[in-house]
Amino acid sequence: GTQIDISDQKRLQDETRQLAFYDPLTGLPNRRLLLDQIAAASYLGQPSALFFIDIDNFKDLNDALGHSIGDRLLCRIATRLQELAGGALVARLGGDEFVILQQQPLASPALIEESACGFAQRIVAAMEQRFDLDGLSHFATCSVGIALMHGQGASVEDLLRQGDLAMYAAKQKGRNTSCLFDQEMEHALHFRIGLESDLRRAIGSSEFLLHYQPQRDQAGNLIGVEALARWNSPFRGSVSPAIFIPVAEASGLILPLGLWVFQQACRQSVRWNREGRRVPVVIAVNVSAVQVRQPDFVKSILETLQATGADPCHLKLELTESAMVEDVQATIEKMMELKQHGLALSLDDFGTGYSSLSLLKRLPIDQLKIDQSFVRELLFAPSDVAIAKSIITLADALGLEVIAEGVETREQQQFLAALGCTRYQGYLFGRPVPAEQFDDVM
Ligand code: C2E
Ligand code: CA
Ligand code: CA
Repeated sequence: GTQIDISDQKRLQDETRQLAFYDPLTGLPNRRLLLDQIAAASYLGQPSALFFIDIDNFKDLNDALGHSIGDRLLCRIATRLQELAGGALVARLGGDEFVILQQQPLASPALIEESACGFAQRIVAAMEQRFDLDGLSHFATCSVGIALMHGQGASVEDLLRQGDLAMYAAKQKGRNTSCLFDQEMEHALHFRIGLESDLRRAIGSSEFLLHYQPQRDQAGNLIGVEALARWNSPFRGSVSPAIFIPVAEASGLILPLGLWVFQQACRQSVRWNREGRRVPVVIAVNVSAVQVRQPDFVKSILETLQATGADPCHLKLELTESAMVEDVQATIEKMMELKQHGLALSLDDFGTGYSSLSLLKRLPIDQLKIDQSFVRELLFAPSDVAIAKSIITLADALGLEVIAEGVETREQQQFLAALGCTRYQGYLFGRPVPAEQFDDVM
């Protein structure tokens, strides 16, 4: 007989298997193994729950403390999830996404749902416990999406999509929480997809137009106008920008749309400021964070000004604090450059985002715009009075103009005036209307 030592070959096989089915960083099963297991459970008709776990703001930790700390946290999370899961399969999908595949007893759908939601809450709670990253204390939170498989033949793809949608819903709910997939989420997704495809088609058509809303001072003089996009869809009727702008932002369609808006506003500015106006009309144009983040943002603004012949001093850009979140320094530089060319800058929806005082001091802005949510409750909610008051004081201290939006009643206007805010925009002073209807007022 002959003897062959196959231990090398055996080790190679093990290693190959390890590489193919396990995540090298955490040692957890990888996506491929997870998909196999889901497919098997589905084939056997084994009721199961899938938990899609995404670590909140993981990118921030990675950026702030470096990738090796980030990796360490991922390993700790892997261990913690395994302890919690008992024998259930814990896989790493990639990045900061984990999935637990848990078999459920053969119980009624309602009982399975209840038990899965309970377990998801335990995942959320487990994540909140302190992590020790070799001497460094860290607190994390996660968002969990739950998809349930009740019987045979569920498609793996459907389950992954459902889990993902539910996880997205948990993020929308403010993170550090869990959400069970429901059909509503699928409908909302289809609505968004349909809207996006309509939007794509509509861009470049004549379905969009701009309305203009006056901004006035205490004496009622016109001090500016805000341009607001309107969409008259042949299929959907008039669609509010509150609905189509977020879809445009998520899909990148805001770039061509935003450019079109700015071009229109420039042309209108040329028309309104043509000749002999004692006080020029300044048009404020909303600009999305997605636009600001483009490397050629400034260039495209300047080119549009040049092409239309509009005077930069007759235009104002309204940015939100969200534009400031990523890459503050680069954003500040862009804003500086625009300002040097004469454009004015306003910080929109002020008070709803997060702005540190030190950041605010560095921003080359001209104006703070008090968000309408504070104005709405001004006469009833002391906390909103306090916020409006601090914004006005802050603007004053930093030498910025302040304007209130959403002013609907004389009482609100008087209240704001008493706090020191003398610029207003809102239904009390005029609704957004097409440019033609504006000509009489000017
Ligand atoms: P926003 O920039 O905060 O604009 C103010 C919104 O408040 C407008 O809604 C306006 O019609 C509404 N409004 C004005 N006065 C009053 C009032 O007295 N009471 C109440 N309840 N509402 C008032 P609209 O036109 O539906 O726009 C919604 C949002 O869509 C805007 O909020 C802005 O964030 C976005 N948006 C609109 N046009 C554009 C655009 O051209 N580009 C970008 N990026 N975003 C736009
Ligand atoms: Ca605005
Ligand atoms: Ca606003």
